[in-house]
Amino acid sequence: MSNFKDILNKDNLTKQDLVCMLNAEGKNRDLLHRKSKEITKKFTTNKVYLRGLIEYSNVCVKDCLYCGIRKSNTQQKRYTISDSEVLNCAQYALENNYGSIVLQAGERTDKPFISKITTLLNEINKLSKGKLGITISLGEQTLEVYKEWFDAGAHRYLLRIETSNSELYKNLHPKNRMHNFQHRIDALNNIRLAGFKLGTGVMIGLPNQTIENLADDLLFMKAMNVDMVGMGPYIEHQHTPLFNDKNLLASKQKRLALSYNMIACLRILMKDINIAATTALQAIDNFGREKAIKIGANVLMPNITPGSFRDNYKLYEDKPCTNENASDCNTCIDVRMNMIGSEVGYNEWGDSKHFFKNKKQLSSS
Ligand code: SAH
Repeated sequence: MSNFKDILNKDNLTKQDLVCMLNAEGKNRDLLHRKSKEITKKFTTNKVYLRGLIEYSNVCVKDCLYCGIRKSNTQQKRYTISDSEVLNCAQYALENNYGSIVLQAGERTDKPFISKITTLLNEINKLSKGKLGITISLGEQTLEVYKEWFDAGAHRYLLRIETSNSELYKNLHPKNRMHNFQHRIDALNNIRLAGFKLGTGVMIGLPNQTIENLADDLLFMKAMNVDMVGMGPYIEHQHTPLFNDKNLLASKQKRLALSYNMIACLRILMKDINIAATTALQAIDNFGREKAIKIGANVLMPNITPGSFRDNYKLYEDKPCTNENASDCNTCIDVRMNMIGSEVGYNEWGDSKHFFKNKKQLSSS
């Protein structure tokens, strides 16, 4: 077996290499994280980009077995933010030089919802005169809907595959047409076809998920040639069916450590993509997102959802900052980024370099 350093320097990482890297502890883990940081400095702009996160609605037609806002969780109060409040959030992001926002919600595919999003996207663009970059994360839709939203001015789309293993996927979802693995893959392809920069991601440390599964997840992201990734630890929610499997879980600290290794491996595998330091990391460790940035993430999504709604967008337990408002976030970002010596790309969209390189290659071939 090759020496760990040799593996880190290989050009074509195999599944076996990735398994070895994901398992790294102690000195090897330090080497892995250092290599990832080196690559981040060399292949990204080496700035951290902000996306003000608006958790638009927790109404969801889906029933994913792990998710706190699943349709069948009747203990969850439901909300949808009013248009004017969404526009206030966008204005806030603009005034605070965030560069971009993310509009995320539970999944709905009805016409009024689709049109509402189109209107909001148009309004946000009007308000910012096209200055704010817009990522949306609104689940599986048809190609026509993706095109409509792209034409309305969103340009990045985040749809996590959750796990690239179809068997595990089946076990995490009700067995019906609405929760179909192949449909989700088709949706990812359609998002790209519609013109979006494509983002996906997975949950890390799910019940019955193996290190081999996670290595496959990384290879899946590479094969899909995604432009951005958001992934983080799975965190159990007591009002979901998957909570019954909680005795199969590794400790939260182990899931966190594995998430850091996933970020490092992904950075080494896909050097110039955008990788988000996700909120779920912060749910386990107050400085989880900063640690992720130190390792190789380069996107931060400060929550700018009005404080009164935040407590209801509970995908998992211990979700941080639910008792705060956007302005608390703002002071917090500067302090936190200064602490780890990272430069923030204020007023920039900060799209992944990967997307532009890809486009160039496609147009010259
Ligand atoms: N409806 C949108 C996004 C809403 S949920 C969509 O379908 O893409 C956003 C993400 O939260 C999900 O993709 C999932 O990866 C994550 N999530 C949900 N429940 C979680 C849990 N219990 N622990 C960690 N992450 C969770």
